[in-house]
Amino acid sequence: MPTTFAVQDITIHRIVEQEYGFMALREFLPTLSDAQVEELEEGAYDAKSGNIVLCFQSYVVKTPHHNILVDACIGNNKTFPRRPAWNAKTDGNWMAALKAGGLAPEDIDFVMCTHLHGDHIGWNTKLENGRWVPTFPKARYLFSQKEYEYWTGPNVPAGFSMDPLNESVLPVVEAGRAELVTSDHALNDHIRLLPTPGHTPDHFAVCAGKGGDQAVFTGDLIHSPIQARYPELVMRVDTDRDQAVQTRRRFFERYCDTDTLCCTMHFPSPSVGHVKRWGEGFRLEYVS
Ligand SMILES: [Zn+2]
Repeated sequence: MPTTFAVQDITIHRIVEQEYGFMALREFLPTLSDAQVEELEEGAYDAKSGNIVLCFQSYVVKTPHHNILVDACIGNNKTFPRRPAWNAKTDGNWMAALKAGGLAPEDIDFVMCTHLHGDHIGWNTKLENGRWVPTFPKARYLFSQKEYEYWTGPNVPAGFSMDPLNESVLPVVEAGRAELVTSDHALNDHIRLLPTPGHTPDHFAVCAGKGGDQAVFTGDLIHSPIQARYPELVMRVDTDRDQAVQTRRRFFERYCDTDTLCCTMHFPSPSVGHVKRWGEGFRLEYVS
């Protein structure tokens, strides 16, 4: 199973933390029909548990200038009372995968969080002497300002846990390491953000490559391959479902039949491929 991809002058590493049958299929994709269940691709559904299979991972992008971490996954010692597989865990999976990519935490120059849900910010911080401190000692952390204001403001959905934000985002801001940017921000000629709102209010994707998008990192604008085939399939906590559907369709239309490597966060391994048309929707032709 490939975990490293090279395109032009950039190298991409998958940093996998977990992959498992995460949640009952229809709890996760509430509008999924019986006919669509039949079309789920092998590996995306665990028939035994009835759960949707998701990978939880980050990506590291090495450009000639920087090492960039796209999304910070689940993390260790974090508070997730409703997710036993994540709650206060202390495994070495993520750090071992980083090391396998030839990287140590001090090698990361930038961290970019596509949005501020708990499974995309965890490794932003680590517990040190009872305090949350930035995991990557030299990195600047890019968050969308609008996204940050939403999750720290008065309109957070009822029942949404503030633990991930308190443990994995606020300590970075307090340490003076956060840069609050717009979701169309360009870091330099190799790295640009692409506004992809809907799953959260100011979600962004990350585009990499000089002179064009050699690779794009989806964050959570999509979770499972069946949502490429049927972009209208919403995910349970999309903050704006109509906008999420529109974003998904526009995104796949933009990259369909191009050479751009599409790096998804939650598709089962290998997670990475090229966008092709499938019926009235799309599919990923995986890179193997
Ligand atoms: Zn996610």
